[in-house]
Amino acid sequence: MSSARGGSFLLSPVGSVEVMSPEFFSAEQKAFFETASRFSREEVLPKAERIEHKDFALLRELLRKAGEVGLLGIDVPEAHGGSGLEKTTSLLVAEAKSMLGSWSVTFGAQTCIGTLPIVFFGSEAQKAKYLPKLASGEWVSAYALTESGSGSDALGAKTRAVKSSDGKHWVLNGSKQYITNAGFADVFIVFAKVDGNLFSAFIVERGTPGLSVGPEEKKMGIRGSSTCPLIFEDAKVPVENLLGEVGRGHKIAFNILNLGRLKLGAGVAGGMKLHLAGAAAYAAERKQFNTPLMRFGLTREKLARMLADSYAVESMAYRTSGHIDELIASGTETLTAIEEFAIEASILKVMGSELACQLIDDAVQLHGGYGYIEEYAVERAYRDVRINRIFEGTNEINRMLVTGMLLKRAMKGTLGLFDGGETKPAPADAPVENLKALGLHCLKVAVEAFGQAIEEHQVVLASIADIVMDAYALESMEARNRRLQKAKPLEPWRVAAVQVFTNAAHARALASARRALCASSKGDALDAHLKRAQALQVYLPVDPEATNEVLAQAVEQARGYPSLD
Ligand SMILES: Cc1cc2nc3c(=O)[nH]c(=O)nc-3n(C[C@H](O)[C@H](O)[C@H](O)COP(=O)(O)OP(=O)(O)OC[C@H]3O[C@@H](n4cnc5c(N)ncnc54)[C@H](O)[C@@H]3O)c2cc1C
Repeated sequence: MSSARGGSFLLSPVGSVEVMSPEFFSAEQKAFFETASRFSREEVLPKAERIEHKDFALLRELLRKAGEVGLLGIDVPEAHGGSGLEKTTSLLVAEAKSMLGSWSVTFGAQTCIGTLPIVFFGSEAQKAKYLPKLASGEWVSAYALTESGSGSDALGAKTRAVKSSDGKHWVLNGSKQYITNAGFADVFIVFAKVDGNLFSAFIVERGTPGLSVGPEEKKMGIRGSSTCPLIFEDAKVPVENLLGEVGRGHKIAFNILNLGRLKLGAGVAGGMKLHLAGAAAYAAERKQFNTPLMRFGLTREKLARMLADSYAVESMAYRTSGHIDELIASGTETLTAIEEFAIEASILKVMGSELACQLIDDAVQLHGGYGYIEEYAVERAYRDVRINRIFEGTNEINRMLVTGMLLKRAMKGTLGLFDGGETKPAPADAPVENLKALGLHCLKVAVEAFGQAIEEHQVVLASIADIVMDAYALESMEARNRRLQKAKPLEPWRVAAVQVFTNAAHARALASARRALCASSKGDALDAHLKRAQALQVYLPVDPEATNEVLAQAVEQARGYPSLD
C-alpha cells in the first residue's frame, strides 16, 4: 500500500491506499465519540431553548463542563493541559458536538480557531499562560480576522498595529466584524497590519484598554451563539502578545482555516445523521391517506439520498483525518501534515456544507407544514445549517482553492496531474476512475486554452472543482467499502449508497464538464472534447426504486443512520 499525498487521489486507482473510517476507530476513539455524543444528548440538547435565547452564562458553564470531560483539549498538547490526540479524534469530537448549531459554533470557535493559533504558533510563555485555561474551559476564546471591508479578501484588513514609543505595547486601531464568541470571550486572536502593511497576529485579552465589544448581531440562524464586532481605539496590547512573527500572520490565518474546514466537514456529518434520524422518526409516525409517510416511494427516496450523502461526507472526513494522522505518525510536523491535505479540507468543507443543506431541506420537506414551524427542531436546523456555506472561507473561495491548489502543485511538480497523457475510460467496475479522468481532462483542456490566465475563468475552475469534489466523495466511499469487504461481506446499503451517489455524481459531472469545455474550447476541438466527456460518462443501469428500498430499509431498521459496528 502506498501512502496518500494531498490531491493524489486523482491519480492513484481507488483502493491503492488504505482509508480510515469509523469502523476502524480505536477503543479510545470510540470512547471519546461516546463521551462527546452523550455530552451533546444529555447536556446540550435538553437546554436548546435556553441556548437559543442567548443564555451566555449557560454556554460558559457548558464549555467548562466540556473541558472537565476532556472535550476542549484534544488538539492541545498534554504539557499544556490537553490530551494532544490524533486529528481523527479531533474530528469525531467535532462530529459529536454538532447536534445543535449554536453550541457547535461556540465550541468550534473555542477549540479550533480560538485555540489552535496558540498551539501551533505560540511561544512557550504564551502556551503556558493560555492553553491550560482554554483546554479547561475556564477561559473562552475567539478569532478575529474579518472586517467590514474585508471578508474573503482577509489580507485586505485595515486594522493597524504600531509599536508604542516606549516599545512596551502594540497599539491597535480599527475594527473587526462577525466575531464568534466575542460577547463573552476572555481572549481574542486578532489580525492587524503592523505599520499598515505587515499582516500579523496578536493575543488580545478582554479588558485591554481601548478594546470594546459591540452589540450582538441579529442572525438568521445559530441565534444562541454570540457574534459581535470588536472596536480597537488605541488598544494597548503588551508587546509579548505578538503571536508568531511580524508579517507572518497569513501563515496563521490560513493554516488554522485548513483544520477548521476539516472540522466543519466532520461537524456537518453529525448534524446530517441527527436529522436523518429525526426525519425517519417523523416519517414512521405521521400518516396521510391512512398510510405512514415512510411507506411512500418519494419519502423512501429522500431517506435513501440522506443516507447516501451522510455516508459520503463521513467517508471523506475520516479518510482525510486518517491520512493526516498517518503523515504525522511518520514524523511530519502536524501543521505541515494538515497543509498537505488542504485540497481535501476545502473539498470536505464545500461538499459537507452543501450536502448538509440539501439533507436538511429534504427533512423540512418531509415534515410538510410542521417543518416550517419553530416548535420543530428541523426548522431551526434549516436556518442554522446555512452559515456553513459562508464561513471558514465561502464555498466560492474554497472551490477556487481546490482547482487553484491542484494547479499549483502540478506546476511545482509535486503532483503529476498532466503526466499520464490521454486518460482512458476506466474499467466499468470503478466508475469513479472515469470521474477522475473527466476532471483531469477538463483541467488539461482549460490549462492549454488559458495558460496563466486560467485564474480569470472562475466558471471553468469552479466547474472542474465540482467534478473533482464528487470524485473525492465517491472514491472515499468506494475505498472504504473495499477495505471493509476484506473482513466481511458488505451490508447491501453500503453498496446501494455508492450506486446512488455514482449516478448522481456522474450526472452532475457531465453537466459541469460541458460548461468547462464549452468555455475553454471551440469548433472541432470542442466537439472532440465533448465526445470524450460523453465517453467517460457512466450511468449504472440499476433500478432506482430498488436501490432506494435497500437504503430506506437500512434507515428504517436503524431508526436513522445505521450502526457501524
Ligand atoms: C455567524 C457568523 C460567524 C462568523 N464568525 C467569524 C469569526 O469567528 N471570525 C472571523 O474572523 N470571521 C467570522 N465570520 C465572517 C465570515 O468568515 C465571513 O463572513 C466570510 O469569510 C465571508 O466574508 P464577507 O461576509 O465579507 O463576504 P464577501 O467576501 O464580501 O463575499 C460576498 C460574496 O462574494 C463572493 N466572493 C468574494 N470574493 C470572491 C472572489 N474572489 N471570487 C468569487 N466570489 C467571491 C463570496 O463567495 C460571497 O458569495 C463570521 C460570519 C458569520 C455570518
